[in-house]
Amino acid sequence: MGVQYIDTHCHLDGDEFAQDRDAVIQRAREAGCTRIFLPAIDLVTSQRILQLCQQYPDYLYPMIGLHPEEVRADYKEVLAEIHKLLPSLKGEGQGEGLLLAIGEVGLDFYWSREFEKEQLEAFEEQVRWSVETRLPLMIHCRKAQNEMVKILRRYEKELPGGVFHCFTGNETEARELLQFEQFVLGIGGVSTFKKSHLPEVLPAVVPLNRLVLETDAPYMAPVPMRGQRNEPAYVVYVLQKLAESYGVIPEQLASATNQNVARVFGIEV
Ligand SMILES: [Zn+2]
Repeated sequence: MGVQYIDTHCHLDGDEFAQDRDAVIQRAREAGCTRIFLPAIDLVTSQRILQLCQQYPDYLYPMIGLHPEEVRADYKEVLAEIHKLLPSLKGEGQGEGLLLAIGEVGLDFYWSREFEKEQLEAFEEQVRWSVETRLPLMIHCRKAQNEMVKILRRYEKELPGGVFHCFTGNETEARELLQFEQFVLGIGGVSTFKKSHLPEVLPAVVPLNRLVLETDAPYMAPVPMRGQRNEPAYVVYVLQKLAESYGVIPEQLASATNQNVARVFGIEV
């Protein structure tokens, strides 16, 4: 399959890839993956990802941010440290110019609401970073769409855009998110799961110009790799599944998602 695609969300900095990261990247290239975007989850991963991406220029692209599940009582200090890594404006600064997005940031009330107030504040603060720097947002949201939408609406006019990563919702939720016109939905392995409604939900309400592809590796491996460590080369299974649901050829779906990446992240593909 001669497709070319971009993995917009991959935790390639993780220990899961410590032993064979080069081989994973090689397989990704061979599968047609032309770029991999790396979200951070805290200060340490933000620093680590900036360094790692410098070792693979024009292939790995960094994001920095504080993930909602990593928000604790000390979040203000952590955010202050992460903020120091930001260029004052997209494209400015030496070596930092390639910074792609703020992420992953958002809200997650699935496991716990212990730090609900802190999560809301940390998310809003990082949304303001996006407004200030013009860097798009990579948003993680679980069991919190109402709260997330409420915060985003406050900045709707000023936001440069972004990705609602790992979208697994229904038609109503998709429609609500698509009202943010500069945003797209990130779709990964879940779309291939047997019980997933995404193969029906997506073509019904999400036009091809509002989708991007992702692994969320090492998590969320698609069928037939489900349960294994995920990696960017496996996006081809997601591509095939989505192309089937939309009734297009995989090349068409890949090219549409590449154009969406170019628009949302402001890079040439
Ligand atoms: Zn993630």
